[in-house]
Amino acid sequence: MILDGSFVAKQIRKNVKIEVDQLRKRNLFPKLAVIQVGRDEASVIYLRNKKRACKEVGILFEEYYFEETVTTKQLKKEISKLNKDITIHGILIQYPLPKHLDEIELFNMISLKKDVDGFTFYHIGKLCHNQNDFVSCTALGIVRLLKEYHISLAGKHVVVVGRSVVVGKPLAMLCLQENATVTILHSQSKNVKEIMQSADILISAVGKPKVITEDMVKEGSTVVDVGIHYVNGKVMGDVDFEKVQNKAKYITPVPGGVGPMTVAMLLENVVKACKKKI
Ligand code: NAP
Repeated sequence: MILDGSFVAKQIRKNVKIEVDQLRKRNLFPKLAVIQVGRDEASVIYLRNKKRACKEVGILFEEYYFEETVTTKQLKKEISKLNKDITIHGILIQYPLPKHLDEIELFNMISLKKDVDGFTFYHIGKLCHNQNDFVSCTALGIVRLLKEYHISLAGKHVVVVGRSVVVGKPLAMLCLQENATVTILHSQSKNVKEIMQSADILISAVGKPKVITEDMVKEGSTVVDVGIHYVNGKVMGDVDFEKVQNKAKYITPVPGGVGPMTVAMLLENVVKACKKKI
């Protein structure tokens, strides 16, 4: 069965729109500011989807574009301005960022009230203490999608492939909160195939096309594909979808799985940030 992220996200956007309309009646206009550096193909598409979704629900969207040559210092100056701007409720830095930039410093420069991606030390710390405030939109979106399909995580063996601070780690934390038994795999892990084969729920956030093959997946399991790749003009994920779908009971497609859920969670987080001002 396909876990239809597009469908679930559409319902969420409808509810967000109702909330935004209510806020607007009180003269509150939720606004998201997005910082983009360079023209990475995937990032351009992510941003376009975020912009479109904001427009659909009535969230104002401002884009701040910088050339690849921008420095950490210049970006910090911009973030400082956005932090002070009282009309802006959420700030997002589109990743991946060019290697010369200090990603950690930049993420942590964002005002805690506007950290709608939840990447500051503070919000990641809160997540580890089960005090969720702003949490990674992708991680939130995955757990929400599983819940919508009544796929319980409690007592299940969840294998998260990837340990990034934007996806793998916050996702593992959320799964732990749902009482799953969590294994995190990464590029230095051993016996990767055996571990994946024991997963009731296998979530791939590797970032390599079709690395998850049929032989790695347990019969009747749930497979969630976070990866997004553009290969010869075609969009695909980390999972060899055509073959794996015959083995998995539930599977997310790419596109139309985790991507729209991530955007929907971002919208919810912007509304949450705006409401915090009341
Ligand atoms: P990332 O920072 O590059 O992290 C990739 C992770 O995969 C790393 O932890 C890496 O291990 C691990 N890895 C690499 N090769 C591996 C292998 N052969 N076996 C096991 N683990 C391996 O990427 P990310 O930001 O987390 O994003 C991952 C993917 O998700 C990308 O395709 C990205 O575009 C996509 N994404 C999608 C959404 C969405 O909304 N759908 C949102 C965010 C990201 P090491 O730590 O050892 O290097």
